[in-house]
Amino acid sequence: MNHLRFARPARVLCWLRCRRASRCRRDVETIAALLLLTLWGLAPIAAAAPDVDLHELSWYVHVDLIDAGAGEDLAYWQVVIDASVASGNQLLEGGQGPFDAPCCTRLGRNVSVTTFGTVGDGLDVLDTFTEQNTIAGTGGLGSRAFLIDSINYCGGSAPLSIGCALRPSCSGNGNDDPTLWMIVTVDSFDSETLPMVIVHERGHNACLNHVSNAECQIMQETILIPGLGGCMTASECTDYQAGRTTTASGLECSCFDNGGAILADGTVCTEVTNGLCSGGLCGVFSDAGVQLIAAAAPGTAAGAPPDDALRISALKGEWTTLAQFSPAADDIRGLAYAWDSSTLFGVVPTVGDDSIVTVDPVAGTIISVVGTISNGALEIVSMAYDPGATNSASDDRLLVLEAGGTFGEIRSIDPAGPSSTTLLGSLIWLDTHEFTGLAYDSLQGKLFAATPFGPDGLYEIDLSSCPPSPCTSNQVAGSGQFREDASLSYSPISGMLYLVGTAFTGVRTFYNVIDPTTGASVETLSLDIFTPAGLAAIPEPGFGAGLGLGLLSLVGAALFRRGVDELERTRGATRKGT
Ligand SMILES: [Zn+2]
Repeated sequence: MNHLRFARPARVLCWLRCRRASRCRRDVETIAALLLLTLWGLAPIAAAAPDVDLHELSWYVHVDLIDAGAGEDLAYWQVVIDASVASGNQLLEGGQGPFDAPCCTRLGRNVSVTTFGTVGDGLDVLDTFTEQNTIAGTGGLGSRAFLIDSINYCGGSAPLSIGCALRPSCSGNGNDDPTLWMIVTVDSFDSETLPMVIVHERGHNACLNHVSNAECQIMQETILIPGLGGCMTASECTDYQAGRTTTASGLECSCFDNGGAILADGTVCTEVTNGLCSGGLCGVFSDAGVQLIAAAAPGTAAGAPPDDALRISALKGEWTTLAQFSPAADDIRGLAYAWDSSTLFGVVPTVGDDSIVTVDPVAGTIISVVGTISNGALEIVSMAYDPGATNSASDDRLLVLEAGGTFGEIRSIDPAGPSSTTLLGSLIWLDTHEFTGLAYDSLQGKLFAATPFGPDGLYEIDLSSCPPSPCTSNQVAGSGQFREDASLSYSPISGMLYLVGTAFTGVRTFYNVIDPTTGASVETLSLDIFTPAGLAAIPEPGFGAGLGLGLLSLVGAALFRRGVDELERTRGATRKGT
């Protein structure tokens, strides 16, 4: 019976494409948790949460993918699948901006991953209708997922596809009705899109069709490399949930209320020990205890004036617009948060001199102009905060990049008297107007800049090397994160750099969390679009009040970093596939 169903090409026409990327498999990381019990106890606590609409799948790996000599035994692939499913679940459940309806639904695995096929049977590369039927008929009833090498056929010729799935009509029937299959590929794993491909193909199983608007959507027909998009509409979420395989999963979305809305960031959640909500997801304090304020133009990645304040949940990039900075629609081109004084500073680059302002991080509005930099046609394009070597305010400084001269200049500003600057050194790179992101890692004492320049985009600037000579500045090898409109910030809570920027001539907005010790990012998320111009990492409000220096010393002592593999991407990050 199943074979007859699969024989209808009209129901098997949903596949996902990308061009094969270089094969650079990476081990799946393990993340250690950091528990900060004292701070965690200050947050609001979530009440009853909705049940997870769970999709439990049986996973099969083609036997020809097993290469124990290369470390790729069945256990390896199970780890790959589990990590990719977990990452995909965060795309479903978490928010990625106003377009996205966070969705309380997850994929799971009900039995151990097993192999299928026989050595050399050719089913590791799907080329024909017969092979498709053979795979789809493997494993009996229930929802089944297959990992093979690559796909050239899916209900018809489909070269360079990376996923293929049965798409039934929308019936609202859960409980594995009908029996379903999906196929995903090592090709998508190699191109670091496997989490999105898995949830995309399961979306077809849940009757969803392809969409064409909003690049961040899970159900886009073509996956762009890089970038994992997690956006879905509310109606797609309803259909996705209806495709569940169980009536009572026994799991809860602990960062949702019973109406299906996500809880405020900073709410205590239960799925992770000492967890906090961040954008609808429950994360460990050190990740989820950070929020970001961006100066930006929401709703476009094509460079509109950055006169709005955005609030970004650090865990996976959920964002909302707080307010326009001022009634006069002042643009802000640099933001930095002074942790010791809980002050958010911004730069308004007026036609003549630049204004230093303070910003209310909750309301998103300018509080006051606190200084004027008499720099004429020169303009400050980015800003960072250095708390200094001591707890005294006397060595605090704002670090800024002033562009427009022969060279760009790194200068410092005393937060207590922000109407003058001190030259620290020049930058030899042109055009320094493009060094739009600046962040100071106070733990390592390193200054970083984010740019659109390949291959790595991220620069480290050695302030000890200047003046009188220009500051030594080099790209962080292997980072591979080059962005237009790049904005960068550092959080001493997480010890991580946060990068937002646009790509592909303003079509997409990317979000990365980067380890400053290696320059590596775990993933690149494609968010609902906005054009950033400044970024500042601040503590979640529940943790900000009254913490001050105590917080800094505590997190400094307990800081951990995650071991992430280097991502090696080249400048040629262009639209892939068709
Ligand atoms: Zn598809």
